[in-house]
Amino acid sequence: MISFCQECLLPNTKPYIKFSSGICSACAFHRKKNNFRKNKTINWKKRKKDFFTLIKDIKKKNSPLFDVCVPVSGGKDSITQVSYLLNKGLRILCVNIDYGIKTKIGEKNLKCIPKMGASLITYRPNLKIQKTIIKKSFEDFGDPDLMSHCLLHALPIRIAINLNIPMVFLGENAAYEYSGENKLDEKRMSQKWFNHYASNSGLTPKKFAKIYNIPYKIMKIYDLPNNIDLKKTKAVFCSYFFKWSSEKNLVIAKKFGFKTLKKPQEGTYRNYVGIDEKINRIHQYMKLLKFGYGRATDHACEDIRNKKINRKQGIQLVKKYDRVKLSDYFVNDFLKFTGIKKSKFFKILDKYTNKKIWKKSKRNLVFKPKIK
Ligand SMILES: [Zn+2]
Repeated sequence: MISFCQECLLPNTKPYIKFSSGICSACAFHRKKNNFRKNKTINWKKRKKDFFTLIKDIKKKNSPLFDVCVPVSGGKDSITQVSYLLNKGLRILCVNIDYGIKTKIGEKNLKCIPKMGASLITYRPNLKIQKTIIKKSFEDFGDPDLMSHCLLHALPIRIAINLNIPMVFLGENAAYEYSGENKLDEKRMSQKWFNHYASNSGLTPKKFAKIYNIPYKIMKIYDLPNNIDLKKTKAVFCSYFFKWSSEKNLVIAKKFGFKTLKKPQEGTYRNYVGIDEKINRIHQYMKLLKFGYGRATDHACEDIRNKKINRKQGIQLVKKYDRVKLSDYFVNDFLKFTGIKKSKFFKILDKYTNKKIWKKSKRNLVFKPKIK
């Protein structure tokens, strides 16, 4: 039976989450991050020092073209990542991967990056392959972003290795921030991390290529390089050095010209998250159907942990925003992009609807569990 964390609102259906005495591992990690428990503290001062040492080291490498590579979407987080690297005499190469359906505001926000003083390249994947991958990921695994997540993590690292860039500055370590992982390396990207968290449920690009008869040579850019190559650059998570916070990142990004939506993004109450690209909304909606929680839950949980709202207020926000229907604004473009027929699209939605969580009432889905 589905149950919820007693502190935030995460359900036990969330992949990789663990519970101890009714508290989820994401809440436990948050406490550790904020030094609530003295015996499990994080020394943020020391980590900041480590960051400056790392910067010094990579500058010494005198790499031919760039010192650091940053994967960017143009969202508030990537702008913040770049901001931490500014004014240090670094040659920054930002890599944007335009893998799906970019929004107008997303395109605008991406323009902040070169203005900040970093170089920017946009990579557009071979659409003949990418469209098939998104289609198959959606139809057969109920997640259109399944391989896109891999591409977003792997390709900037591969580019860095090939251009002899000594450092890759990744965003948050999602395993720690959202699932409270404590066994994997928190600082550096590893094969283990990638195979577990980027490739959902262990479906690696290699396995995917095999299933769909796509030559691995073509799918390689979706996959992390082997351990020997991985050592040629330092791919580190920003959230290891700087305390990760959506709100703080928003404040920083705004200083560099980041624009938000006028109203909240569909499926949540925030107007500044997931606004740069459209397929992510389908990914989030599928998450809601499969596991019973969507984007508003993610955001309410974060706000509860940061004591911005209480749990009761969080429940109200989730009720109001989490379970709203997928609108044509997202669906139509997705159908056009993938070539999936509308009737098939809704059949797939139905196939992945967790019947233990949802019941049908006329044409609507009703959420069965009661959050206490
Ligand atoms: Zn929790």
